Amino acid sequence: MPPARPAKRQRRLPPDAAAAEETPSTSSRLRLLWLAVPAIIAGLAFYVASGRELGVDFTGANSASGAAEYTYLPALKKSNRDPFVVADLPGKGKGLVATRDIKQGELVIQESPLFTVPTSTSESPTALISRLLAAADPVGRAAFLKLSYVHFPEGLDPESNPAEVALAIFQTNAVAAGDQAGVFPRMARLNHGCSRAFNVVYTWREREQQLFVHALRNISWGQELLTTYTDTKRTRRERREFLSQQYGFKCTCAVCSLDAAASKDSDRRLTGITQLYGHLSSWGNGAIGGVEAIRTINEIWKLEDEEGYWSERGRLAADGAWIAASHSDAPAARLWAQLAIKWYTIEAGADNDLVLDIERTASDPQGHRAWGLREPLAVGGPLTQGV
Ligand SMILES: [Zn+2]
Repeated sequence: MPPARPAKRQRRLPPDAAAAEETPSTSSRLRLLWLAVPAIIAGLAFYVASGRELGVDFTGANSASGAAEYTYLPALKKSNRDPFVVADLPGKGKGLVATRDIKQGELVIQESPLFTVPTSTSESPTALISRLLAAADPVGRAAFLKLSYVHFPEGLDPESNPAEVALAIFQTNAVAAGDQAGVFPRMARLNHGCSRAFNVVYTWREREQQLFVHALRNISWGQELLTTYTDTKRTRRERREFLSQQYGFKCTCAVCSLDAAASKDSDRRLTGITQLYGHLSSWGNGAIGGVEAIRTINEIWKLEDEEGYWSERGRLAADGAWIAASHSDAPAARLWAQLAIKWYTIEAGADNDLVLDIERTASDPQGHRAWGLREPLAVGGPLTQGV
């Protein structure tokens, strides 16, 4: 694929401004103003440098949806601690392919940044990146320089402008790392998929100062690992337009490859989900009441089930807990918190601060910081099964 990859998904407004918490999504928002170009990923490095990159033959089979699926042929490197290898994928460039079945919620990558940059600096971006790169370890530096880039200034010759190339590589590949932006060469190999097509999500952890990538759903041996570069809760046309403009590729993921009728249905669901999120956010200013807000969350959940869109559910359930606690509905707050624990654990790991925080609400709803801020009301719990 295009070596593209960004690192940030756009984020809906929380139902209450005070409810804003670091989530897998919000944490991946680049805040560097001078990073005009969203991050994109490219061919890395660590694998090449360490000799772990393996030549792999693939059979490209077309699924019923028309999306290419790859079967990993030779059973390679079973001793490799990673459950994936970097592989050349027909028509997509490099990507990560599972070398064994990966379970939902499994940690697949834990990576420190090669370097990070602050959100504001008086130094010129070009000079800053060059300085940090010079200080990085040589293997990492070599890896960085093998990453691809887009949006290089017109009229400049890359050969004679290495500092500008370094900046372009950074701008193309950087992802948010808390209040900073960083480059993560291994994770940068992940290609993009829309809606239900992406199967891994990443989270920055402030405490560990590392990026964590977890499986959002079960991944079979031979399947490509895909994350998402943007908010894909929009129509295929809009997604493709954005991805083409920002990352320079036409998305051919399983969802973008649906036939016209199926794609239209998917667009309707995704647009509906986005509209419902907008409706939910209006609880924050009192435009809708607690019962309506909870009903909206349940509608989002149902529509996401139909679409197969599973990401951001920890946050959605935590919003439910927030609303229930605000209205002093302890039983509902507990149920929403339990649901949030389940999905935060899948997306961000059981030892994530998000999980530890919402566990307190599950055991003591009255201790929630929003407890009793709104009028007492029985708002209701999740309609979903399998809490
Ligand atoms: Zn797509």
